[in-house]
Amino acid sequence: MIISALKETKQNENRVAIVPDIAKKLVNDGHEVLIEVDAGEKSFFPNQSYIDAGAKISNSDDILNKTDILLTVNLPSDENLSKLKKQSNIIGLLNPYDNKNKFDKFSEKYLSVFSMELIPRITRAQSMDVLSSQANLSGYRAVINATSLYSKSMAMMMTAAGTVAPAKVFIMGVGVAGLQAIATARRLGAVVSATDVRRAAAEQCESLGASFIMVDDENDAEDESGYAKEMSDEYIEKQRKLIADHVKQQDIIICSALIPGKQAPTLLDDNAVNSMKPGSIIIDMAIERGGNCTLSKSGEIVDVNGISIVGDVSLINGISPDASNLFSKNLYAFLDILIDKETKDLVFEDEIAKDSAIMINGKLSEKFKNLG
Ligand code: NAD
Repeated sequence: MIISALKETKQNENRVAIVPDIAKKLVNDGHEVLIEVDAGEKSFFPNQSYIDAGAKISNSDDILNKTDILLTVNLPSDENLSKLKKQSNIIGLLNPYDNKNKFDKFSEKYLSVFSMELIPRITRAQSMDVLSSQANLSGYRAVINATSLYSKSMAMMMTAAGTVAPAKVFIMGVGVAGLQAIATARRLGAVVSATDVRRAAAEQCESLGASFIMVDDENDAEDESGYAKEMSDEYIEKQRKLIADHVKQQDIIICSALIPGKQAPTLLDDNAVNSMKPGSIIIDMAIERGGNCTLSKSGEIVDVNGISIVGDVSLINGISPDASNLFSKNLYAFLDILIDKETKDLVFEDEIAKDSAIMINGKLSEKFKNLG
């Protein structure tokens, strides 16, 4: 099997889908690995590191013409898609609901296309869970970025000249990213608190040393897959009142509240932001889905009376070598269920493969048939 990675064409994307360590594993498994020249450059994997791993460096036309499996971070450009060999396979973070206009192009070429966002979050698929591996690193990076913008100390310091108070950090939304943000802020010495709508989050926060606040509601907001349900306007209003005094005292707020398939919930309105002290920092990790803060703007740092509100859409790029490593390992684990070890043929029978397929051999998966 020829397995390849191209240089990512999406703006500001620093990651690469195959890192040298995984190239080596694929070569050892008996595959040929093709990497586009400079594909790993932005994550500090030089061409030579791939050659040392047994891969070949080539140009995109040659790769698209030959590859059986194209591993990718984002959906390839239209130009690359048009050149891709018929009956090939694409695996990556393909954002299928926003890219449904590309499905016809896939089927014209009888492609099999798998989107890693669709991998079920079951124990057996944990090693393939790109959403978790990338969210984890983004949560870490959000706190590091906030720390570098924050002009005061994160940790408490007791000196002969007096005591420096620790920063107060509030994490809103405690999924994978939020939990890593708590752990990172705690390691830096901050006093950390958090909120979520799922009761299960309370114990997780407290075990990481963060205090937890949430609206006392008789219904739990967690659905059967472990995600949050969309809350009523009444609940959001109660939540806003509950956190109002708390927000005023915070130095750094990391917003990471999301609801699958919906716009991010609004948790910090203009009044809440204006109640904070100058010098405070808000990192809105939910910005790609509209943001948790009414004043955040995509790709910008907004200054409101000395409060910096960061709408960084590519936090992950600040940690791209590690992100590429984990991403590439996730893809390798996925290939393990897709490639028969004896025959080296592709098999699409596993439930994880079926769940994550946009289409198999040019035939659209049931879940995408009635999207309109
Ligand atoms: P996510 O990115 O969809 O959401 C982030 C967080 O925002 C969630 O904790 C959610 O409850 C919270 N949220 C939503 N609305 C909110 C509001 N109004 N106020 C405050 N918080 C709000 O979530 P995720 O990081 O993908 O994780 C979702 C769940 O899946 C978690 O329970 C996680 O532990 C679980 N998970 C399971 C596996 C597995 O393999 N079993 C893997 C990863 C995650």
